Amino acid sequence: MRIKVMSDDLANKIAAGEVVERVSSVVKELVENSIDAGSKTIIVDLENSGTKLIRVLDDGMGMDPDDAITAFSRHATSKLLKEDDLFFINTLGFRGEALPSIASVSKVDLRTCMKDGVGTHVVIHGGKLITNEISDARVGTKIEIADLFYNTPARLKYLKSDSTELANVTSYIEKLALSHSDISFTLTNNDKRIVFTSGSGDLLKTIHEIYGYSVSSNMIEIKSSNYDYDLYGYICKPSILKSNRNHITTIVNGRCVRNSEVNKAINDGYFTFKPDIKYPVVVLLINTDPTLIDVNIHPTKQDIKFSKLDSLNELLKESIGSALRKSLLVPKVEVKVPETTYNEISIPLVYEEEEVYTGTKEQEQMDFKKSEFEMAKEEVLENNNLDTEENELVKKLELYPVGVVMGTYIIAQNEESMFMIDQHAAQERINYEKVLRALRSDKVFTTSLLIPITIELTSSEFMKIKEHMDILEELGFKLEEFGLNTYIIKEHPTWLREGLETESVRRIFEIIIEDKVLFDRVKFQDHIAATMACKMSVKGNEAITLEQAERLLEDLVLCDNPYNCPHGRPTIISFTRYELEKMFKRVMN
Ligand code: ADP
Ligand code: MG
Repeated sequence: MRIKVMSDDLANKIAAGEVVERVSSVVKELVENSIDAGSKTIIVDLENSGTKLIRVLDDGMGMDPDDAITAFSRHATSKLLKEDDLFFINTLGFRGEALPSIASVSKVDLRTCMKDGVGTHVVIHGGKLITNEISDARVGTKIEIADLFYNTPARLKYLKSDSTELANVTSYIEKLALSHSDISFTLTNNDKRIVFTSGSGDLLKTIHEIYGYSVSSNMIEIKSSNYDYDLYGYICKPSILKSNRNHITTIVNGRCVRNSEVNKAINDGYFTFKPDIKYPVVVLLINTDPTLIDVNIHPTKQDIKFSKLDSLNELLKESIGSALRKSLLVPKVEVKVPETTYNEISIPLVYEEEEVYTGTKEQEQMDFKKSEFEMAKEEVLENNNLDTEENELVKKLELYPVGVVMGTYIIAQNEESMFMIDQHAAQERINYEKVLRALRSDKVFTTSLLIPITIELTSSEFMKIKEHMDILEELGFKLEEFGLNTYIIKEHPTWLREGLETESVRRIFEIIIEDKVLFDRVKFQDHIAATMACKMSVKGNEAITLEQAERLLEDLVLCDNPYNCPHGRPTIISFTRYELEKMFKRVMN
């Protein structure tokens, strides 16, 4: 007989390969168990980033002596009893694989007790039961995992450096904390506190405890729903973008999930509010009927399948886009006045360069002052209050030019604030909206050319253009084939800038030939408008007069979004009177 049933031990080790790859996956499974057990406080202590010891202490329901042993057998779970339950999953775990997998590749020490029950102490080394005895009766569970992968040298070698493992654990705990703001989380490594959240139940406060004031005070609250999905959470203003996607947290029915489609929809919501290479800080709770999602597509249950993805994406794009449009987007200057010395005042813009994510910045951010959170909360309320129609009119931007500096930046003021405007970015925004309006209008205005423009192409390009002739005609071009691989343009839309016609036509041809955005009409129009705007705008160093600056500002304040160029860079930076007074130490806080 060649076929034999695997021993449990071997099967567990194989399963461990799927669920337990590194320290962070062990922490994740254990903490998820604590959450599922109804804990209000979860403390994770690591030694040497968890490679030596991982300890998870919770105040959840605990296990009785029998369960404490059964929990370590394969596919033992208290969370899923019949197949139908798979479609109504409301716990984080359900596969019953984590504990046996972890126990097969480490030394486990478990103490657990239920209310009014008997405490149990279980020790398992490499899947073998060493100790099973009555123990103290503290309600809840304490589980220690020592020497992870001590009996699987190949996998041990695969562990990354301590700092990488710690960064991953930190990132997980932060996400879990964000998805359960009603649970207090603590993470320490070698007795040093890395993460602390108070379990206040207030999502903004949790964001504050994790990211600090500079982020929490720059969030906008989102609340919306459609037939299939409810959305709640916070998105950041474009002034505090990050350079990677790690700060996008999406929580579906209480579970942190990574889904590239959802990330894309969030990104699309920021369309023209941010550069492509920058990513927002977003924490979104998405709630839906559990039958609309399938979490059982991956052993670590982190990806998820939505059956009505389009409906979710529409909701995300629309709510994020409109929240951004409604909130005031002039980037504020973060004023840092040193406590004791006056000679070194730095005024960093709150754009944060951050290449490698290494978790929340150390201790000082943990011991946040209460007042700081209250301040953040006020800021966020202000961000959101601008939302009302009444405030919309108050809000109308007024900009009076004072002068131009460095040939590039217009200085302007109004009653409350002083502004710096990037003239090139401003011009781009104005031209972008002008072209976009023309493209979206039903009426097409064209100019006939006495001398046609000749455009020569390669034969594949020529064919591509021929294929999409209707698009060009719709834009207002009239063109004819003219000999080998050549077109002549006899008429073009009026929004082509005089003197730049040939160049502009070539760019439009390129966009059509690239073929990337043709399927999406809105994106195509936007791409054309942004490209044309860039071509048409005054370059940064072309000096302009005060009169020209005045006209530019008049046009700018009329824009739908005067605060960003079409690529998402800021056009305006503001200093309020108060901020200036603070910088000059006329006021102290
Ligand atoms: P799953 O979470 O998929 O059910 P696990 O192997 O992670 O599988 O856990 C097995 C079982 O052990 C759980 O279903 C639960 O009943 C119990 N358990 C694990 N950790 C805890 C804990 N911290 N508190 C209470 N019960 C727990
Ligand atoms: Mg579990």
